Amino acid sequence: MEKLRQQDFIDLEDQFGAHNYHPLPVVLSRGKGAHVWDTEGKRYFDFLSAYSAVNQGHCHPRLIQALRDQAELLTLSSRAFHNDRLGPYEAYMANYFGYNKVLPMNTGVEAVETALKLCRKWAYEVKNIKPEQARIVVVEHNFHGRTMGVISFSTDPESYTGFGPYLPGFVTIPYNDVDALAKALEDPNVAGFLVEPIQGEAGVIVPDDGYLRSCYELCRSKNVLFIADEIQTGIARTGRLLACDHEDVKPDILILGKALSGGVLPVSAVLANDEIMLCIKPGQHGSTFGGNPLACAVAQTALEVVKDEDLAARAEYLGNIFRDRMRAIESDLITAVRGKGLLNAIDIQPFGSGKTAYDICLKLRDNGLLAKQTHIHTIRFAPPLVISEADLLESCAIIRDTVIGVEAELELEN
Ligand code: PLP
Repeated sequence: MEKLRQQDFIDLEDQFGAHNYHPLPVVLSRGKGAHVWDTEGKRYFDFLSAYSAVNQGHCHPRLIQALRDQAELLTLSSRAFHNDRLGPYEAYMANYFGYNKVLPMNTGVEAVETALKLCRKWAYEVKNIKPEQARIVVVEHNFHGRTMGVISFSTDPESYTGFGPYLPGFVTIPYNDVDALAKALEDPNVAGFLVEPIQGEAGVIVPDDGYLRSCYELCRSKNVLFIADEIQTGIARTGRLLACDHEDVKPDILILGKALSGGVLPVSAVLANDEIMLCIKPGQHGSTFGGNPLACAVAQTALEVVKDEDLAARAEYLGNIFRDRMRAIESDLITAVRGKGLLNAIDIQPFGSGKTAYDICLKLRDNGLLAKQTHIHTIRFAPPLVISEADLLESCAIIRDTVIGVEAELELEN
């Protein structure tokens, strides 16, 4: 059979796949550590890491070994029966993050839905809010996934338009605004506050120092659950095990996904202490694949790798270098550099040229680095945390040369 070119793969997706994404035109077929290769053998630095799912690096040998070993024994038992991987994994994870209990799910958004259900149950069973009256406070520009429940409180028209009617029971306040939370919590029917410690999809929006701590204390004072969506920020990405650790905040409900499997398969989880978690009883929530032995084996290994390779400290160290290098780029196109650990973004404004961050991402691709724009003028840079310092510096040089090259082109055009 004739070998397919990259465009052939793209055409197949276009013809037979739903058009719910607009990927950068590059077709990947292999990954190792911080690198990926396209079908023609060209190598790139991966600066998206599958939206921070591949913190441990592509195809980490220990994860692939765990996958192989378990795949030959038992992949799925369903929760109708016990399996010999779930208990040990839950015990390991509960200890690792310091909670009494773990509820395993698959995708990130399922874990968010689980956390919301758990919060409502707690509201009625423990906080004694009247039936159907519980409210959950959320923030503007949130991103928690794509289900009906979660898009019901999205403030991004692209995410919610055309999908109504929406789920009630949510109150939206501005992000990074402690006073707004204080006001919202005056309503005694508020049961929870759901927040991303850093807003990833919104463009790596880092709140002011002290924001999380103040919100957490407000929640405490009002008997409201502080629910942290650490699906993108958690598991060493921001230079600590959890982004909440930067402010010594221990969420009442912790939501994890993505890097929980190192990108090997969809694994997510909700963690909480008994008073909250035991509000959900047998039959009230579940998932056929949640807690499957394959996922448990991989996820436990993924967490071991994070500790054994000290990935949080690496992210902290390399993140500082990355931001310093970005700030040192002498170009008027860069209007902001922000982030924590290896979750970073730069705002790029190709003034008046009609060009966007997407055009810069295309040039970065040509120069051997894959990154993805969020919104029109922001590019997120989030390589696997295992990237070597030399590779990080080489990547910084690619970004610098690309931006300076685009600026020179724009000057020529004018
Ligand atoms: N929450 C946050 C903060 C996310 O960044 C994402 C995905 O980007 C999700 C939830 C949804 O995760 P999933 O796509 O695995 O459902």
